Formats: sequence, structure tokens, C-alpha cells
Amino acid sequence: MQSIAQLEKDRAGVINSLPDWSKIVRGSMRKYYGTCGNKGCRCHKDKKHKHGPYWYVAAQFGVGKQKVYLISKKHIKEAKAGMKAYNELWDKLCKISTINLEILKAKKHG
Ligand SMILES: [Zn+2]
Repeated sequence: MQSIAQLEKDRAGVINSLPDWSKIVRGSMRKYYGTCGNKGCRCHKDKKHKHGPYWYVAAQFGVGKQKVYLISKKHIKEAKAGMKAYNELWDKLCKISTINLEILKAKKHG
């Protein structure tokens, strides 16, 4: 079994490597092609000529509630980085929790 000191050191390491959470984005990115308001436009005649791609992030709020956010092309990278940071943060929070549980277990036996 790992010592409490070692677990605390591991925990400090995880905390020091947390991503910048000021930029986090939670959701999934999708793209779509669409038709415009001009009925005479070729996008209405042929699927190949639909406009796009347009990108959006779909975010879930509770059960069955979803909000969609259109993302402009120049901000796709930023949105993706935010999603990566979210996943990394979540992963690391779980790691910290596991370490804390191990510490509590070690204390009980110690
Ligand atoms: Zn069109």
C-alpha cells in the first residue's frame, strides 16, 4: 500500500497539472450543411451544393435538455481546446478523488 505522504505527493502533482479551466467548454462539436432562404439557389436543388459546413456545439443540460451554439470557423480551434480542457479537468478531478479515498482508507488503517 502507498504511504499517505506518497499519495499526497501524487495529489499535488495532479493539482499542479490541471488545465486552464477558465476556457472549458462542455459539449460535443458537430457540423452540418444547410439550405439558405433563397429558393432559386442551387443549394435547394442538389445536396452537394448545400452551404457549409457550419459548426456547432451541442451542450446537454440535465435530462433531455440541449442547447446548440453555432461556432464561427475562426473559433473552432478555441472551442475544441475548451472541450479538451474539460475532459482533462474531469479526468483529473476523478484522479484527485481516488487519491483522497486512498488517503482516507490509509488513515483508517494507520
Ligand atoms: Zn443557398
